[in-house]
Amino acid sequence: MRLGNQRFIFDGGTGLRVLGLDLLKQMPVEASVFFSHTHWDHIQGFPFFVPAFIPINRFHIYGAIAPDGSTIKERLSDQMVHPNFPVPMHVMQSDLKFYDLIPGDVITLSDGIKIETAPLNHPNMAVGYRVTWEGRTAVYCSDTEHFLDRFDNNVLHLARDADLLIYDATYTNEEYHDHKCPKIGWGHSTWQVGGRNC
Ligand SMILES: [Zn+2]
Repeated sequence: MRLGNQRFIFDGGTGLRVLGLDLLKQMPVEASVFFSHTHWDHIQGFPFFVPAFIPINRFHIYGAIAPDGSTIKERLSDQMVHPNFPVPMHVMQSDLKFYDLIPGDVITLSDGIKIETAPLNHPNMAVGYRVTWEGRTAVYCSDTEHFLDRFDNNVLHLARDADLLIYDATYTNEEYHDHKCPKIGWGHSTWQVGGRNC
């Protein structure tokens, strides 16, 4: 996401490697990276994010304290520890700054950018981000499961009057309620719920 001169990255799955290769053409790079949570599919690209290894670049990395008390820095670092990965995080020579969030925090950045956060309904919790700048709002609300009997007030809080809502549409309603293998409690939603009016 580009907001004026600022660049935001949401989560760091395998796509982060590809983005990193592209950013090499635009160095020096400064970007803010917002992690929804640290399940593997959201962090696996981070060890392969080449711009983070280059000293002239700078990254501001945001993520919530996990239910076990671990920080975003600890969890990103843990996946790079031998024998899981040969290159530990301290080899990354860019300027890495880490910010611990508590869901519900509001982040105010330069240029009048406001980022609201809220906890999402996902195993071990995830964070949704609502970004507002110059009267426009985009919401990143991946990895959240709806409730069967009510709307999720946290999701409503993030999505209110937004121009763009990126919502968890992992399943169809049929898959979610499948007789043999229902996905209730797995932490993901359906596109049908994402489009529902309240
Ligand atoms: Zn997850």
